[in-house]
Formats: sequence, structure tokens, C-alpha cells
Amino acid sequence: MQTNLYVLRLGEISLKKNNRSVFEQTLKHTLKFKLRPYSTIIRTSKGRMFVEIEEGTPQNKIDEVLSKTFGIVSYSQAVSCEKELKAVCTMAVRIMSRDLRPSAIRTFKVETVRSDKTFEHLSYDISREVGHAVLEAHPDLTVDVRNPGTVIRVEIRDKAYIIPYEKEGQKGLPVRAGGKAMLMLSGGIDSPVAAWYAAKRGIHLHAVYFHAYPYTSDEAKEKVIALARQLNPYLDGVVLHIIPFTDVQLRIKQVGLEEEQTLLMRAAMVKIANALARANECTALVTGEALSQVASQTLQSLSFTDHISDLLILRPLIGFDKEEIITVAKRIGTFDISILPFEDCCTIFSPKHPLIKPDREVVTRHYREAGLGEAIEAAIEQEEIITF
Ligand code: ATP
Ligand code: MG
Repeated sequence: MQTNLYVLRLGEISLKKNNRSVFEQTLKHTLKFKLRPYSTIIRTSKGRMFVEIEEGTPQNKIDEVLSKTFGIVSYSQAVSCEKELKAVCTMAVRIMSRDLRPSAIRTFKVETVRSDKTFEHLSYDISREVGHAVLEAHPDLTVDVRNPGTVIRVEIRDKAYIIPYEKEGQKGLPVRAGGKAMLMLSGGIDSPVAAWYAAKRGIHLHAVYFHAYPYTSDEAKEKVIALARQLNPYLDGVVLHIIPFTDVQLRIKQVGLEEEQTLLMRAAMVKIANALARANECTALVTGEALSQVASQTLQSLSFTDHISDLLILRPLIGFDKEEIITVAKRIGTFDISILPFEDCCTIFSPKHPLIKPDREVVTRHYREAGLGEAIEAAIEQEEIITF
């Protein structure tokens, strides 16, 4: 099989000591799965992953996978040759001519890492020789060690590797290496970004969306499905649970105090998310809450929902300003979907003057007295599941 070689820099994974191989294996499986049906040969060595991908695999597929998989700091297409200085120089010149269209680049530098300490030449000498060879072949270029237009990396390992450019990865840790959690995914801007941050630390996500039809339209549900689809290359196999929430909300409206309704609704959501999490072996919840963004996200309100939840609630955006959240939402491609103008259930049922500093014990008592158990059980029974 003819293959092209990609060299991946792994960053934080390489700092792991005893269980490094678990992280590496997870990443390896993920890449093999995402690059199917094309054949791949993957091995790791000293902070690097070497991925040989069947020739003919579309470049945009490779870039889509390598640029959106957590655990990869950067990646580049590379070539290898025998560990012989002349061969390295010849290959570096060839790669410069092929990949880097020197007309667009004025300056370069060569950096060498000599992992094989038995190699007869020192790093500095290798860099110098390769630099000379490139300059001879491309007299229009100059060397600039401080601010180079491009860096040619040479790594002397089992073979010599020439790495002509690096593209940025998502960093973080491979999804599934950090356990499983249940994301509460609304159609808003925040929760998709929270999903990205949770997945970045290696969490595999299920997601739950509470749908209050006909108070929220089917377009609102389609919007959440579109968000899950957009996130999936990062989340790597998200499972979306859609829960019909209308009856629970109507019951809250009927029995709850007006100013407590948002809190009771959030408590019901958290209770259902707990049940779904347990049924799907998730050990935590993830929300898009940020401190003091709205009434239900004050310290007192968050303390109340924490009290209601048996499971740990992760709030990756707790210290984020809205502007910061929007910047990430744009980068990961969820922003344009999130701002589509379909109401979510919270806005329709929200009271004019919601409680901002609830007494945790009092609202917990009111929640119990609301008797939502039956409505919650019925909602869970009508769950719809979409797997991406
Ligand atoms: P977002 O932009 O994520 O919708 P928000 O600022 O609108 O957040 P809230 O409506 O208070 O804030 O929701 C806080 C969090 O609760 C959301 O980030 C999300 O995790 C969860 N949530 C809210 N509504 C729903 C829903 N309909 N289905 C699932 N989760 C929800
Ligand atoms: Mg919302």
C-alpha cells in the first residue's frame, strides 16, 4: 500500500507518565475510526504520533480529521529518508520545492532534533548543511532565525524525518480518555461552546435537549440537531436525547410561584439529566452556565441546582464573558446556528421578575411540593434518541 506520512505533535499526552499509553491508544482508535474507510498505520514515539494514510485519501478529509481531533497540538505532512546527511539535504530541497511554493516565502530556518544520539552529526551541523542545500537550490530565499517565513524541521529518529510546515490542532486530550458526561444542550450560544471545552479535556458527551412543543417550534429542535451535527467532529460520536418538556413546564406554571418558575424548571431539567446520565453511564453533567450571566446563574441559583443534582455539574464557561464565548462559538462554527431566531423553552416561560438570590432550602422544599415526579417520568419515557 502506498501511503503519505503525517507527523502529529501530542503535547499534554506526552507529559502523562504511567497511563500515557491509554491516551495514545484512545487517540489512535479515534483517528483510525474517523479516517475509515481509508487504511492507516499508526505508531507513537516520544511525544509524536506517526500516521501513514493510504494514498488517494482526499486532503480535505485528512485536514478535517487532524484539525478537529482533540489531543493533537499540531500536525504536518512529512517525509522520511535514510539517516544520511546527503539524503536529508536532497529530501529537504525537494520538499521545499514541492510544498512551500518558495515564491510566497522569503525566509526560512532549519531546526533539528536529534533523538538518536548515536547519529554522527550534531543538530547544529545538520541544520547548517540542510540550510546551505536549500539556499543553493533557492537563491531567492534567505535564512532568518528570529522571524522565519517558514521552519523546516529535521528529526533524527529511527529514520530521518523532514517536516516542512505545521498546521494547528485543537490541543487538549483525546475524547473518551476522560470519561463520559451528559451535556445540557440548548439552542443558545453558550452550551455548544461548553461542549467543546468539556470534550477538549477528553470527555465523551451525550447531550440532552428539552423541547417544549408547541411553545417551541420544530425549527428550534432542528436547530439543536444542527448544533449537535456541527459539534460532532469535535465530540466524536455525540448521542442526542430529546425530551418532550411541555407537560413538566405546564405543571410548574400551574403550581409554582411566578418568581420561582425558572428555578423550578432548571431543577426539573437537572433531575431528568441526572436520570439520563445514570442510564447512559455518564458521571457528570455539563452546562453552558456562566456566573451572573442571567438570574438563574447567580451563585445562589447555581447553588440551588447543585443541591438538586446528585451528579457533579461541570460548568466550563463559569468565568467567561459573553464576548469570549462568542469568539469561540464563531471559531467552532456554532455561532451562526445558535443565532437563528427560534425561541427556546426558557424564554417563553420565563417570569417577569425571576428570583435572583433564592434561598436554597426554601426553593428545594417548593420543588418537592410541586410534585413533578410523574410528569418527569412520563417525559423520560418519551425520549427520542439521535446518534451522530
Ligand atoms: P445557552 O446560550 O446555552 O442557551 P443561556 O445563557 O440561554 O445559555 P439559560 O437559558 O439559563 O442560559 O441556560 C443555562 C444552561 O442550561 C444552558 O447553557 C444549557 O446548558 C441548559 N439549558 C437551557 N435550556 C435548555 C434546554 N432547552 N435543553 C437543554 N439544556 C438547556
Ligand atoms: Mg438558553
